[in-house]
Amino acid sequence: MGTKGKMVVISGPSGAGKSTVCRRVLEDPEVEFSISATTRARRDGEVDGRDYYFLSADEFRQKVEAGAFIEHAHVHGNMYGTLRAPMDAALKAGRIYLLEIDVQGALQMKGIDIPGLYLFIAPPNFEELRKRLIGRNTETPEVLERRLQKAEDEYRERVRYDHVIVNDNLEDCIAEVRRLIGSGVEG
Ligand code: 5GP
Repeated sequence: MGTKGKMVVISGPSGAGKSTVCRRVLEDPEVEFSISATTRARRDGEVDGRDYYFLSADEFRQKVEAGAFIEHAHVHGNMYGTLRAPMDAALKAGRIYLLEIDVQGALQMKGIDIPGLYLFIAPPNFEELRKRLIGRNTETPEVLERRLQKAEDEYRERVRYDHVIVNDNLEDCIAEVRRLIGSGVEG
């Protein structure tokens, strides 16, 4: 691709703490977040153009057809996709570009040889993950079951990543991710 920056993909089952890790890593101004497009409804506190670009199904489809996405996937009944143009711009500018995407999306990118660092944040074990997801208490039993099933499927794919970081201690996990991506902020 002839770029100067670095692309970092972070995946992991929901409940493994991946969003918290990403938020902390993004404190480094050198690191830029890839704002995905999605068809899912905006949650309270989320801002269009900061957390996601919230699109209608039609708008999303048009972008797929226009080739605007590097990858896109169906996750929990909604569409999600990574936009190509901002990523190219960030990499040209020499930045660390962080994608928080699901395993399907990450493997699509690996499949077309997009160079980057592929990191998987894993829960210490499945019992712990179950507890964390139940503890959130934001899901109906069916949605929770679906999320747990997806988490297990995703967990199996961790071997295809460059590194698996077990989140049994949040601060250690963050420090390890920072070390791996070589961002300025340590510890
Ligand atoms: P949430 O709806 O909870 O924000 O995200 C649900 C899942 O979609 C998470 O696993 C998240 O990593 C994933 N996701 C977010 N953006 C993208 C994207 O652009 N592409 C893909 N493939 N997955 C995404």
